[in-house]
Amino acid sequence: MTSLPTRRVLRRLTVLAVAGVLAAGTAACSSDSGGSGDKAAPGGREGSAEVGPPPSDAPTAADPQASIPAPLVPDALVRKTATGGRTVALTFDDGPSPQWTPQVLALLKQYRAKATFCMLGPNAKANPKLVKEVVADGNRLCDHSVTHDEGIAKRPLSRIKYEITTAHDQIVAAAGAGTKVDWFRAPGGDWSPQVRAMAAGYGMRSLDWSDDTRDWQRPGADKILATAEKELRPGGIILMHDAGGDRAQTLAALKQLLPWLVQQGYGFDFPA
Ligand SMILES: [Zn+2]
Repeated sequence: MTSLPTRRVLRRLTVLAVAGVLAAGTAACSSDSGGSGDKAAPGGREGSAEVGPPPSDAPTAADPQASIPAPLVPDALVRKTATGGRTVALTFDDGPSPQWTPQVLALLKQYRAKATFCMLGPNAKANPKLVKEVVADGNRLCDHSVTHDEGIAKRPLSRIKYEITTAHDQIVAAAGAGTKVDWFRAPGGDWSPQVRAMAAGYGMRSLDWSDDTRDWQRPGADKILATAEKELRPGGIILMHDAGGDRAQTLAALKQLLPWLVQQGYGFDFPA
């Protein structure tokens, strides 16, 4: 999967990290390559509902011990597919949901499409069988935090670390040891250099999107489909949701979007 030059860079970064050259903290500043404004994501903020309060063991105050680990991967925002060209990456956030995720999986199978599922740690923990099914179908996993805090960017480092690493571990535990979680997606697209660097330090690329279907607003399946088609560009990343509320409209739109993509000659890819 990982290209040779990338592996070389990874090895070099690891060596540098071991040598202590990349001091925690400075790494976040020097690798701030996200470009223009995090908040200016093409689709604006993604929303979701029905996310519970933070668990009582979640850190709330600044922890002087918390620091940003040296990045293992670049921390720039990913908004394109791995292959580029006439490919598209479908992404589904906030799940998995026993009610909606199996229906999404069935549709994906029908069109031989693969997607990336950005899961909330507690949802993965509650539905390990479903997480394994997502992976067994050839889809990939993305960390979408523990509590879906859309204000994650301004939280203390200890809190950012908790949201990112705890969810990562919950997803891996549900999927099975050794499963790779390649990306982190900030709730609501609330990125900051600290959030990106923390994700990168734990081996995850920061996954944004280029095509927000706004399915979370529930504007009707036709409108979701129209937005998806209008904002689509080759190599784009489509944002949809398989949990966080009633997703009947998302499913109805997906049912039409998948054959339309095939008809337009698009191949299904994963994010870069
Ligand atoms: Zn979300």
